[in-house]
Amino acid sequence: MAKYVYDFTEGNKDLKDLLGGKGANLAEMTNLGLPVPPGFTITTEACRHYLAEGAVPRGLEEEIAQHLSALEARMGRKLGQSDDPLLVSVRSGAKFSMPGMMDTVLNIGLNDESVHGLAKQAGGNERFAWDSYRRLVQMFGKTVLDIDGDRFEEALESVKGARQDTDLSAEELQRLVETFKGIVREETGADFPADPREQMRLAIKAVFESWNSGRAVLYRRQERIPADLGTAVNVCSMVFGNVGDDSGTGVAFTRDPGSGRQGIYGDYLQNAQGEDVVAGIRNTVPLQDLEHIDKDSYDNLLSIMKTLENHYRDLCDIEFTVERGKLWMLQTRVGKRTAAAAFRIATQLVDQGLISMDEAVQRVTGDQLAQLMFPRFAQDTGNKLLTKGMNASPGAAVGKAVFSSPRAVELAAKGEDVILVRRETTPDDLSGMIAAQGVLTSRGGKTSHAAVVARGMGKVCVCGAEELEVSISGKKFTAPGGVEVVEGDVISIDGSTGEVFLGEVPVADSVVVEYFEGAEPEDELVRAVDRIMRHADSKRRLGVRANADNPEDSARARRFGAQGIGLCRTEHMFLGERRQLVEDLVLASDKEERQAALDALAPLQKSDFIGIFQAMEGLPVTVRLIDPPLHEFLPDLVDLSVKVALGNASDKDKRLLDAVRRLHEQNPMLGLRGVRLGLVIPGLFAMQVRAIAEAAREVPGAQPEIMIPLVGAVQELEAVREEALGILAEVGVEALIGTMIEVPRAALTAGQIAEAAQFFSFGTNDLTQMTWGFSRDDVEAAFFSRYLELGIFGVSPFETLDRDGVGRLVRIAAEEGRRTRPDLKLGICGEHGGDPDSVHFCHEVGLDYVSCSPFRIPVARLEAGRAALAGHDSDTR
Ligand code: ADP
Ligand code: MG
Ligand code: MG
Repeated sequence: MAKYVYDFTEGNKDLKDLLGGKGANLAEMTNLGLPVPPGFTITTEACRHYLAEGAVPRGLEEEIAQHLSALEARMGRKLGQSDDPLLVSVRSGAKFSMPGMMDTVLNIGLNDESVHGLAKQAGGNERFAWDSYRRLVQMFGKTVLDIDGDRFEEALESVKGARQDTDLSAEELQRLVETFKGIVREETGADFPADPREQMRLAIKAVFESWNSGRAVLYRRQERIPADLGTAVNVCSMVFGNVGDDSGTGVAFTRDPGSGRQGIYGDYLQNAQGEDVVAGIRNTVPLQDLEHIDKDSYDNLLSIMKTLENHYRDLCDIEFTVERGKLWMLQTRVGKRTAAAAFRIATQLVDQGLISMDEAVQRVTGDQLAQLMFPRFAQDTGNKLLTKGMNASPGAAVGKAVFSSPRAVELAAKGEDVILVRRETTPDDLSGMIAAQGVLTSRGGKTSHAAVVARGMGKVCVCGAEELEVSISGKKFTAPGGVEVVEGDVISIDGSTGEVFLGEVPVADSVVVEYFEGAEPEDELVRAVDRIMRHADSKRRLGVRANADNPEDSARARRFGAQGIGLCRTEHMFLGERRQLVEDLVLASDKEERQAALDALAPLQKSDFIGIFQAMEGLPVTVRLIDPPLHEFLPDLVDLSVKVALGNASDKDKRLLDAVRRLHEQNPMLGLRGVRLGLVIPGLFAMQVRAIAEAAREVPGAQPEIMIPLVGAVQELEAVREEALGILAEVGVEALIGTMIEVPRAALTAGQIAEAAQFFSFGTNDLTQMTWGFSRDDVEAAFFSRYLELGIFGVSPFETLDRDGVGRLVRIAAEEGRRTRPDLKLGICGEHGGDPDSVHFCHEVGLDYVSCSPFRIPVARLEAGRAALAGHDSDTR
């Protein structure tokens, strides 16, 4: 029979799939001998069963009962027993941490009788007992009974007034419990459940159900966490941080999650319970202060932090409680961190001998590297500094101040950049945080909801800017000196320094970009990046090339580490003043006129290629012959029609209008473009090939590769190739001739096409469009958000290569192409070439290189190294 419940002594950290992260790590800490309150974990399997069947699996209730009895025996008290109650917390905990997403209920087991027993346990401390009880009714009401939390908050506020929650007397708290119970009765039509076992049963069910709450669903989509994992439930005996000033609760990191520096980072709140410390109820004190409050607990905590770091060999974050001088560990996990900290920590751990360089490369991601390449604010711009808060999540963000999440979503949908300003954020602000460029709060520390969630999303965040007086209802904030910022005013926030500026601050390059541009690695962060990049480069098998079509981009690509150009588009070479030559080409009425137009284009093309070959200094350059339909280069139909109708059109305009009408296509994406143009317009491709060849002849060492777009049949390629070989021989230059694989038919007949191609380059933008039958420009705005909502895909197939569909075509083409021609070179030049997951896919199917925009090259290099270290063997080699 399936086992659905594990005692904390039975699990370990590697059982996250089954026990969730929290449960697995509670078990790990228990087995390390750390002070964890005893308890047990109900598996994710039980949750999945419950969500699928609408009922808990058979045997679960009995199993829970057995584990509860064992816990009671061990603690020497029974759950909710009137004179000496055992209390428990019921805590969610999925495989991936979802901050604030799932719900936890504390103090289960309290009712009108056991509240007296609890007071007795605490030496007659009535205040503490009633405080615990009001918390239970409040949390239970909100999360289990689904009552609007504001109802309880308001009731609490009205009793509290300007005082703090700790100032409430036992009598006031007792009355508050009555009020809260009244709210429950009013909202649900039933009494607050007094039976401790019933409380526990309902709380467990509520945790199961919270897996599918709107917030959890949204967070998972944002973080690309699979929707079908389910959550585990932890039942943990209570310890109390709210007994008095010798008690408290706190959170800590084993090093600074913002910078990676070692030290003591955390917040502590005396006489408090649960989430008080992150909810900004009262002002927390820095963890260092615990040394003066309770030296024993502090020393103990530091030594446990050290044990955990050495054990997990990584930064850990920790939740703990002190109950009357005794320290208890309530949670740990490998902590989230900023991108900069990820690089610093990885190399620090290498230097401490805790991990290898291979592991260090695995500990950072391409997305993190990309974040470090984001611009930062320019210095000394003269913008007014409004205030300085905490630097909670780095980067530079500029936008209009908005004061509610719905408003943030609304303006962002209109394409506006906004900064979400709140006193503090709650899980309900998630949609606004996603929509905003950055988040600014006036309350809460580095471990507040805003900070944790923003860091996880890589969103800029300044939190705890306490000098700001935020008025949500007035849609404004007031900064020191009386400066008012109202909704719509532009502000700039710097998540790396915590600074908040009025107006738009211009942004400058990041130090990491400067390093890639060739600056010496001086700064500690840049040195870490340098070490990791070198190691990734030494391990990767995939080559990395750039998509570039002018000398400046080519040169930058080389500085960033490109080993060639994988896609040099030629269409821009027909723009600007040269459009007129294309018009002549289209309007040519005979062979001579056409040739004259081509002859005029040839030297311009040639000089373009010379510049690029020179910039690449002997590295391969894949030049794609012209791809878009020619009407894209002609004037606009409406403009021409108006001109003609108004009677001020030249003779040429009239002929152009005819041509534009003649060339109009219903589906240009599927029309006269790519190789089809080359076959239909005599001399066009020949002119380009000759320009490439002559340019190559003039630049010593140039390595041109000629790429034919949109081929679907080997016959198309053969015809073009024949002509090209003739020209190359005439000019006396050698070049590879290959094709793009971007039409499904090309992938499916790759074995034949490889007869005529020396290389394939997967054009995964078109291949994705044609495989899905999506016209990208039309579908992305029209219905992609709906498709994402429906879970039809977890991420746009234009962003990350669709392994199952498009990827299958890539595999087929790679395998069959190599069967025909074992030395066939394989690359990818769609935008996917710079996407981390897609790079891994390219490694796995055995491509030779990826090609991406110059700015993404470092990301592709890093991910190629990570892919090689992840050990997926190439399967076509
Ligand atoms: P989250 O996943 O939101 O972090 P937790 O289950 O960790 O939720 O619970 C939140 C907080 O509640 C913990 O950090 C801890 O302070 C408190 N808590 C949970 N269980 C207990 C317990 N058994 N005793 C005392 N405090 C607890
Ligand atoms: Mg929580
Ligand atoms: Mg927690």
